[in-house]
Amino acid sequence: MLCAKCNVMACVRGGEPPINCPMKDMPTIVTEATRLYFDEKERAIAKIAAEVEKDGYAFWPRIREFAEFSKRLGANRVGIAFCLGLKDVARQIVEYLEEMDFQVFSVACKCGGIDKSQVLGEGAKMKREAFEPMCNPIAQALILNSLRTEVNGVVGLCVGHDSLFYMHSKAPTVTMVVKDRVTGHNPVAALYAKNYFAQRLYGSKPS
Ligand code: SF4
Repeated sequence: MLCAKCNVMACVRGGEPPINCPMKDMPTIVTEATRLYFDEKERAIAKIAAEVEKDGYAFWPRIREFAEFSKRLGANRVGIAFCLGLKDVARQIVEYLEEMDFQVFSVACKCGGIDKSQVLGEGAKMKREAFEPMCNPIAQALILNSLRTEVNGVVGLCVGHDSLFYMHSKAPTVTMVVKDRVTGHNPVAALYAKNYFAQRLYGSKPS
């Protein structure tokens, strides 16, 4: 499956799909996926996502899109799982959502204050022997689940910690902010300026 390298784009333009196209090789899966959009929850989310895209296309910033999506989903209780490195951003997002009349619950990544040695071992620390709390995305998800949030937003959780949050969140979750400490939280900058980022993309970290 090489959709990312396909120039035929039969899924958009019509016509004969290319070799190795999932539409050609996996038609029963594509049919099964289409059937799933008729389940109540999936149908509502897909419909509202399309409406938000249509109504605010290239005008609403993502934060507004999140608010519109949540509102149209009928959600009042909104959860924000954020990275403490983006605390100011998280606070601004919470305040914006409150202005938009949501009840907002926010949980920080270090919630629990569990020393890394307890779960991951001393070797996982940046500095051995010092207290270093681990990121706790599972606690973030379980806390928001217990608060019965109806939609959750992820603000800058680390790579992998976000995976654990998505695995444990019961509410539909939207990625609001992607953390990238090197590019001002814009991961594609490293691709747009690949020459300048070559060492960082392929080389080792200077000691
Ligand atoms: S689905 Fe098929 S036509 Fe569309 S991008 Fe993938 S390979 Fe190309």
